[in-house]
Amino acid sequence: NNSKVKGKTFTIGTDVTFPPFEFANKNNKYVGIDMDLIRAIANEQGFKVKIKALGFNAAVQAVESGQADGVIAGMSITNERKAQFDFSKPYFNSGVVMAVAQNSKIHKLSELRGKRVAVKTGTSGADYANSIKKKYGFKVVTFDDSNNMYADVSTGNSVACFEDHPVMQYAIKQGTKLKIVTKPALNAPYGFAVKKGHNQALLQAFNQGLADLKASGTYDSIKAKYLGADE
Ligand code: GLN
Repeated sequence: NNSKVKGKTFTIGTDVTFPPFEFANKNNKYVGIDMDLIRAIANEQGFKVKIKALGFNAAVQAVESGQADGVIAGMSITNERKAQFDFSKPYFNSGVVMAVAQNSKIHKLSELRGKRVAVKTGTSGADYANSIKKKYGFKVVTFDDSNNMYADVSTGNSVACFEDHPVMQYAIKQGTKLKIVTKPALNAPYGFAVKKGHNQALLQAFNQGLADLKASGTYDSIKAKYLGADE
C-alpha cells in the first residue's frame, strides 16, 4: 500500500559523480543505475523525486539533518550507519579496492609505507584506509569527490586511492589512468537510506518498487544499460 507516498515529492541526495551509479550525462541530466532506479521506483509507486547532487558526504549529512528525505549514492549498508539510518533492501554488491597509477609498481598494502594515499570524505574507502594506516604506515589525504581523488593518484601526488570496486572498474573502462591491485575488502551491498525512524513510508515504497522492478526485469535492464548484460 503506497497511499502515504502517492503524489508527494521527496528530496533525494546523491553523489556528484559516481559512475555508473550517478553522473551528469552530456545534456547535464543525472543518469546512472541509482538515478534510473529511484526514478523508476518513484514512477511505479506514484511519487516524485527532486534529485540533489550534493556529493556523498554532504548527501548523507543532508539526510541526517532532515534537509533531504533520502539518499541514494552507492551507499554501503554498514552496521555503524544503521545507528543513524534505516536502509532499504540491498540492491548492488560492492567492496573497497586499492587502485594505483597505471605505471605504478605498488601492488600491495605493505608497499604504502611512508607514502600518501587519497580517499573520499565519509566513504567506506576512507574508513578502510583510516583503519589500516597505522599498521601500514601511510598518510591519508581526503577529497570530496571521486574524480579529484583519482586525479591525485594519476598525477602522482598520491600513490594509491581506495574506491568501490564496481565504480573503479567502470572508471578504468572509461579511460581513468589507474589500475586495481587488491581484492575487494569490507564487502557490503548498497542500499537506499532514510534518517532512522523517519520517512518510513518512503522506505517501504522503495522496497516495494525495488521488488516489483526485480520481478518485471526492469532492474536487470537498468543494470545492463550501464554495465552490459554480463554483470
Ligand atoms: N560505498 C561507499 C560508501 O558507502 C562509497 C559511496 C560513494 O562514494 N558514493 O561509503
